[in-house]
Amino acid sequence: MIYDVIIIGGGPAGAAAAVYAARKKLKTLLLTESFGGQSIVSDDIQNWIGEPHISGFDLAQKLEAHVRAYSDVVDVKSPALAVEIKTMKCSPERICDFEIKTDQGNVYQGKALILASGARRRKLGVPGEDKFSGKGVAYCATCDAPLFSDKKVAVIGGGNSGLEAVQDLFPYVSEVYFIHRGEALCGDPVLQEDIKKSPKLKQIILNAQTTEILGDSFVTGLKYKNGKSGEEKILPVDGVFVEIGSVPNSEIVKGLVDIDQWGQVIIDAKHGATSQPGIFAAGDVTDDPYKQNNISVGDAIKAALAAYAYLLQRAKTSPASDNSY
Ligand SMILES: Cc1cc2nc3c(=O)[nH]c(=O)nc-3n(C[C@H](O)[C@H](O)[C@H](O)COP(=O)(O)OP(=O)(O)OC[C@H]3O[C@@H](n4cnc5c(N)ncnc54)[C@H](O)[C@@H]3O)c2cc1C
Repeated sequence: MIYDVIIIGGGPAGAAAAVYAARKKLKTLLLTESFGGQSIVSDDIQNWIGEPHISGFDLAQKLEAHVRAYSDVVDVKSPALAVEIKTMKCSPERICDFEIKTDQGNVYQGKALILASGARRRKLGVPGEDKFSGKGVAYCATCDAPLFSDKKVAVIGGGNSGLEAVQDLFPYVSEVYFIHRGEALCGDPVLQEDIKKSPKLKQIILNAQTTEILGDSFVTGLKYKNGKSGEEKILPVDGVFVEIGSVPNSEIVKGLVDIDQWGQVIIDAKHGATSQPGIFAAGDVTDDPYKQNNISVGDAIKAALAAYAYLLQRAKTSPASDNSY
């Protein structure tokens, strides 16, 4: 048995791709480690369109229920981690079938693939970070800034995502401390000038290596070491935004599709097409610059519709077994 489309990922992108594939009556398999994606840890998502407030947990349940409503055409394997993808029976035009192996040793075949495996936040890897994640340690200023109203916060970064996080925080917080381990900020100079104009930016601390997040039930501060003198200091803050980038979950398609220097899958923004015919990608795993739930959903819908168009086209030129659309 060969699926029309196999979707990897059960975050907003994977769920949206599955719903749209189902509505085109494509025989679909969705493989995911879990449903919900990265914002599942968020207590209060305030920008999921149509829901002024929703917890990450509730969003995850709704995404899963929506996918499972199409159980007539969508098979769901969860938890299932896709660990290997191979191309098979490729034509000279590189039209292939795909074979996917999971961590449980199961093997599935599909005519098209939608990669919606998202990303994971790059972490500091210091004591206290995991303990206070969601209790003062945050990884998305666009999402969580309103939760820190009138609080003193630190942003750890130095590049554009750090600078943008500082900007996102200004309307809400009382004070921002910008911490960077390098000798100078490395983000866009215009953004740097902009943030320096705000009286809420209390200090830019350079050469500062964060060594520990401190707290009791919630964050109370952080410890950092001066990279030159080795001197350790404590900065009392109510929140810490870690903005040191994210790592796309693209390892599984390395060598199969083009990937940029940051590990993001390069897509054609109109269709979510990758460099390998039949492999589409959407959401945070891609080189789309904006990493947000709603954007992942929209891009995944484009990818699903493009996968459908690809399958129709493929059916015109391929063996009779393909002519089912
Ligand atoms: C703490 C936090 C809070 C956030 N809050 C907001 C917010 O309020 N609003 C907003 O718009 N955005 C928010 N974001 C950003 C948002 O979560 C992402 O943009 C969005 O989740 C991306 O969706 P995605 O489906 O592309 O990927 P992901 O959400 O990363 O989902 C990927 C899915 O794929 C699965 N997976 C990965 N690899 C494999 C594999 N090999 N096999 C099988 N399954 C796999 C994962 O388990 C996961 O279910 C937040 C991000 C974080 C980190």
